Amino acid sequence: MSDWGEKRFHGRQVFAGLHRRGVQTLDEMTDLPLRLRDQLRPWEPLDLLSKISRRSTSDGTVKILFWLRDGNYIETVRIPEEIHATICLSTQVGCPLDCTFCATGKLGFKRNLTSGEIVDQVVIFQRMTSEPPLRNLVFMGMGEPLLNYDNLVKAIRVFSVSDGLELSQKRMTVSTAGIVPGILKLAEEELTVKMAISLNAPTDTLRNRIMPINRKYPIKEVIMAAILYQKMKGGHITFEYALLPGINDTLEMIKTLREWLIQVPCKLNLIPLNPIGKDRPSRADWDAIMDRFYSVLVRDRIALTLRRSRGAEIKAACGQLAGRMDQSE
Ligand code: SAH
Repeated sequence: MSDWGEKRFHGRQVFAGLHRRGVQTLDEMTDLPLRLRDQLRPWEPLDLLSKISRRSTSDGTVKILFWLRDGNYIETVRIPEEIHATICLSTQVGCPLDCTFCATGKLGFKRNLTSGEIVDQVVIFQRMTSEPPLRNLVFMGMGEPLLNYDNLVKAIRVFSVSDGLELSQKRMTVSTAGIVPGILKLAEEELTVKMAISLNAPTDTLRNRIMPINRKYPIKEVIMAAILYQKMKGGHITFEYALLPGINDTLEMIKTLREWLIQVPCKLNLIPLNPIGKDRPSRADWDAIMDRFYSVLVRDRIALTLRRSRGAEIKAACGQLAGRMDQSE
């Protein structure tokens, strides 16, 4: 607006229209002079994403498959909790990391999302449902957020500014497979987002096998980056640990894990492995597994949580987002 020689507050009106009110057409921006609405016509349609399908579970988890203007697809999930909701966002079409247990990696990497495409996932969800109110954003959908660094940071800023959705950065979590330079760079930003690191294995031998990115950024470097991030931002780091029964959850593995975890104030979030493709999950005894982790970690006061799997029946759970239509859709 200032470039056009207009008053700056018109820019804020447009921003609020797009982000706070989530308007779909310029004519809904009735507070904006018609002259300016006409000048903005080339930007219509305003939505960068189109809803292709919407699936929900009985517990209220909703997954949307979005179609991007270049024909690619992404998925986004809204998870209602008791008094607030969490949206799980995608940052890339596909993913270059190819972790063996994750469905997104199977797609390969297509491209980064723009900051607008990241933001629109939330704007469009907000327009559909506001109950329970949105409080948390987790960058845990398709893709590796720290490999789309600039657009990620821009989206975080857009989500939190006044005139927009005004979401608290403290309620946003960036989840990374351990892109060390990205973690270090984010630590330097004037942002207060939480860091979650998908550790999944406590030895380089095992981690190399299931997360090829570990060959580039081995565990020790990832932990060093986590320590630095925690020192800069305070709070705790969350380590995510998808359970591979009999592989990364043995007593020996848990003891090795402990040696890493005691180095940084952290929480350990255990994630039951969700099936990708047609694999049936082996119904492991989660209580026994939790007890085993607890017995090793309790003395160190490392908080241990088990992620309740939400949306598995609609393939909306961790590691199941693949951005394509199932037969049933
Ligand atoms: N690339 C980022 C964000 C996307 S993955 C990252 O790696 O953190 C989000 C989480 O889903 C990760 O913690 C990952 O370990 C977990 N995950 C991937 N596949 C899974 C599966 N099949 N079952 C359970 N969790 C899975």
